[in-house]
Amino acid sequence: MSHEGIRIVSAEQAEREAAPEVKLPSAAVTPAKVKVMKTEGTGVEIAWKDGHVSKWTFAWLREACPCATCHEARDADGRKPGVAKPQPASLLPMFKAPVRPLEATPVGKYALRFKWNDGHESGIYSWEYLRRLPEGE
Ligand SMILES: [Zn+2]
Repeated sequence: MSHEGIRIVSAEQAEREAAPEVKLPSAAVTPAKVKVMKTEGTGVEIAWKDGHVSKWTFAWLREACPCATCHEARDADGRKPGVAKPQPASLLPMFKAPVRPLEATPVGKYALRFKWNDGHESGIYSWEYLRRLPEGE
């Protein structure tokens, strides 16, 4: 596989590009409680300090991976974060193991990093990124 033409962007840059201009208040981007329902295999629920609760399924979060590679792949197809790449209709659906994280680890105080069961682990989901993500299934 050729890596020519891949634009390397820093996590900060990718985040800036994905994020609208408006600065969110710190209570909106500070989690009070983070639930990663690894055992149940369902998803992530974050209760923010401002009282809002956000929920996403693992599959959705995986498709919203903020790393440069996933970001570019979505850009190329015009997909929004969380939207899976459409499967060609003519092909039989491929079996895919349900997406779930093998590990979810905090990155400093600002982000969460998932090690997905498909081997991917380069996405760092900052609280700010997560708060701005639409909720999804
Ligand atoms: Zn990624």
